Amino acid sequence: MGRIPDDVIRIVRDRVDIVGLIGRFVSLKPSGRNHKGLCPFHSEKTPSFLVSPDRQSFKCFGCDAGGTAITFLMRIENLSFPEAVRQLGAELGIEVPDDGPGERGVSERVTEANAIAQALYREALRAPGNPGAAYLERRGIDAATIERFAIGFAPDSWEHLARALRERGIPAGVAEQAGLVAERRSGGHYDRLRGRVTFPIRDVRGRVIGFGGRAVALGQEPKYLNTPESPVFRKRESFFGMPDALEPIRRLERAVVVEGYFDLVALARAGIDGALATCGTALSSEHARQLRRRTRRVVLLFDGDEAGQRAIERALEVLLPEEIRVHAAVLPGGLDPDDFLAQRGAEALRELVDSAPAALEIAIQRAVARGTGSPAEKADAVGRLAPLLALVPGAVECSAWAERVALAVGTQARHVEAAIRAGRRGEDPQAAVPIPVRRVSAADERKLRLLARALLDHPDLSDRAPLAQALAFAPGHPLVEVAVRLAAEGERDLEALASELSPEARSQLFALAVDEPLEGGLEAAAQALSALERYFHDRDEREVQRGLTERMRRGDPDAIAILHEKQRASEQASARWHEHEPPTELRGSSRR
Ligand SMILES: [Zn+2]
Repeated sequence: MGRIPDDVIRIVRDRVDIVGLIGRFVSLKPSGRNHKGLCPFHSEKTPSFLVSPDRQSFKCFGCDAGGTAITFLMRIENLSFPEAVRQLGAELGIEVPDDGPGERGVSERVTEANAIAQALYREALRAPGNPGAAYLERRGIDAATIERFAIGFAPDSWEHLARALRERGIPAGVAEQAGLVAERRSGGHYDRLRGRVTFPIRDVRGRVIGFGGRAVALGQEPKYLNTPESPVFRKRESFFGMPDALEPIRRLERAVVVEGYFDLVALARAGIDGALATCGTALSSEHARQLRRRTRRVVLLFDGDEAGQRAIERALEVLLPEEIRVHAAVLPGGLDPDDFLAQRGAEALRELVDSAPAALEIAIQRAVARGTGSPAEKADAVGRLAPLLALVPGAVECSAWAERVALAVGTQARHVEAAIRAGRRGEDPQAAVPIPVRRVSAADERKLRLLARALLDHPDLSDRAPLAQALAFAPGHPLVEVAVRLAAEGERDLEALASELSPEARSQLFALAVDEPLEGGLEAAAQALSALERYFHDRDEREVQRGLTERMRRGDPDAIAILHEKQRASEQASARWHEHEPPTELRGSSRR
């Protein structure tokens, strides 16, 4: 690239409106003689980024970034100095001398080849009777939409484009680098996109950097074919919809992200601006950084099928670390945005985007939908969500989400937080969620079996069973799980009941079902439950006393205070017991 004369650089620098330029990327508010906003170059929550119209410069007091309009554009758009000057010059109508064809870089020559291809594709779509136009008409795409997205058509011919590029003096090597043609084994080149409707993919400056092609013939595979990566087309950072979406994204303070060309077209037809589509790849961390420079809020609108749901979670993985608030609209029943528009109309699609819930909420619902009945399922759900929660920036927000997950899954927030920490350490988050199965003695196991037995035989005793104590005594034990389930279900459809149990609990239930019922009927069962409750109570009290005795044994100096505490503990345990005292008529002979 040749040098640009200094006086041209000075004219560009003087005439550019730095507030207007930076305002395209950063939401600026007047602050005295300056303008203030959140720095696009580092992550911050309170603005320390200042733009001075007087000095035609910007400065960040957080990360020390600073400079002129030209350096701002270089940094934010990843441009070289001459590229930035040329872009500003073009916008201001200032002639920036070209350096002559011999010195131009590969990317400019590739871009030139793309521009020729784009003109040719546009022309081919206007040709009467072409299959591309017929296809677009079938899909209900009108002339205004075709114009707006500059949709074209690559004729079903091996050399339509290759020949035209040759005739216009584009070397075959350049056309190949652009990905427009591929080399034949027998020599010569052939068109890559054939018999396809074409979508030009542009960069922020509006230059065509690549193409997406949709098959128009029935059975033509693949349905979508993009030109390959090139010196100017990097799929991991390119969006279809640039640069038109930039201004609405800034104005609306949000971007809508979709996965397909026709999805984006559907949004535009529904009057939803500020949308971008990835070009045949999943949303990448480079995409996320591109978005982050322009907005802090992204609405994902992916297909309503399983793949779309997974795509939401993948998108969260790249967007959350950029401190972007992610929402996701859920399309019903496997519809894509284009189908949805056709079936429900523009108003419904706008409503869907505007009311999109937090994407994490959708991930939570999806994890919970797999089941959270048993402790193992809870651990599984938390294990799935923890890696996403670990990416939520900010301790306060992260812990709020941990509580939300705990509530949805039916576990404790501290378990979710432990799982998040494990994920951050690179450990298995699922392993951090305790599935507490207390080892119980054979005698205690017999007691728990008796509990389940009594409830299986006598559903009427449900409210008299010491379930809370059993849960505290042996949480996660399969017999306790059976007992809790039996007490909760009015119905006695064992098959249905079993289907909601963990495998261990299920086999316990079936074993009980084939066993003999309890002898002595309802009265005996009620007595057994009372005895069990007393047993749990005594056990609790012994635990408390044992703890205190241990402290005395270790030589705790305030022995008298401990004795008082022991006394108090004993009284409290007794009070607890009396609160849970069973009705008199059910007190059996086991009661002392
Ligand atoms: Zn900064």
